[in-house]
Amino acid sequence: MIRVSFRVAAAVGLVAALGCPGAPVAPDGALEWGIAIHGGAGRIPRDIDEQRRSGYLSSLEAALDHGRRRLERGATAVEVVEEVVRLMEDDPNFNAGRGAVFTRDGGHALDASIMDGRDRACGAVAGVTTVRHPITLARRVMERSPYVLLAGAGAEAFADVEAVERVDPTWFDTDRRLRSLREFLAGQGDDEPRGTVGVVARDRAGDLAAGTSTGGLTGKRWGRVGDSPIVGAGTWASNGTCAVSATGTGEEFIRHAVGRTIAALVEFGEIDCAGAAARVVGETLAPGDGGVIVVDAAGRATFAFNTAGMLRGAADSGGRFETAIWECAFRIRTPRGTADGSGRCRRPSRRPSTRGDRPCVG
Ligand code: ASP
Repeated sequence: MIRVSFRVAAAVGLVAALGCPGAPVAPDGALEWGIAIHGGAGRIPRDIDEQRRSGYLSSLEAALDHGRRRLERGATAVEVVEEVVRLMEDDPNFNAGRGAVFTRDGGHALDASIMDGRDRACGAVAGVTTVRHPITLARRVMERSPYVLLAGAGAEAFADVEAVERVDPTWFDTDRRLRSLREFLAGQGDDEPRGTVGVVARDRAGDLAAGTSTGGLTGKRWGRVGDSPIVGAGTWASNGTCAVSATGTGEEFIRHAVGRTIAALVEFGEIDCAGAAARVVGETLAPGDGGVIVVDAAGRATFAFNTAGMLRGAADSGGRFETAIWECAFRIRTPRGTADGSGRCRRPSRRPSTRGDRPCVG
């Protein structure tokens, strides 16, 4: 049976989900492995129709389940991050790969990055238009080029050198995102959850990795690039501190070097990853900016966001397996089936607000 325990994160008066008592632990006292995923943060109205809601949760579960199984069998954190992001890039529920938002001129420009916590090796691509799996190209940049970040046509030329799959740009089109572009161009804003994807993991060897992939913002122009391919902003991993993947208004995550700042708070201070994530999302960022998922050196997965919702999930070697959208509606999978956690969320009296004036942490 899955047990989830909670503790109050006193500094912000919120909640952090911990590993389970009695969980399988490594000799160093850590969980053997842990993983968290996100599928974007944003307004995500609570009255989205049931089909959409369970579609998001099922997509998150499928991705998380793949990561869980691979980590259980000893895959490395980098392998798992790439594989899970690839699955999410192919899932039109998310704004990454197929299902990416449209640029102002009706195309797609995809960004991704990956980081290996063992040695801070990292790779990223920005503004690619024909690469089916930008995360795979980012990994190739990390492992097979002397560079960290490749952009546009040059990145696509490198994809050919590396035989990374390219597709016709229409591969990324979906009706739903086209509707969002039309609404955006008509001045009606972009109310769709954006759906950037991210994965952070600690593997059985104790190594951390993080990866993020996105189509960016609906209607973006002028070669705009957000935080997702910026190592230190949208993605960070360093063994001994934390692995971080962010989602939200990229410009703010770049300005505040969110990924690196969270890890630096752990490296130079006495705060843990959960506390650092809560502090940066709650105090450095402004309400509505977005959120992060984090896994620490002991395999504990947490998240923090200051938007109405964040599509997310977490699993670990202690049996935790949860997916959630809002702060109080998570699905826990047990051997006897899937339980809908609506209304069962144990929260301290100072409940995080869905208006985004206080971050939700868990
Ligand atoms: N952070 C992404 C960007 O600014 C978008 C998102 O996560 O929704 O490109």
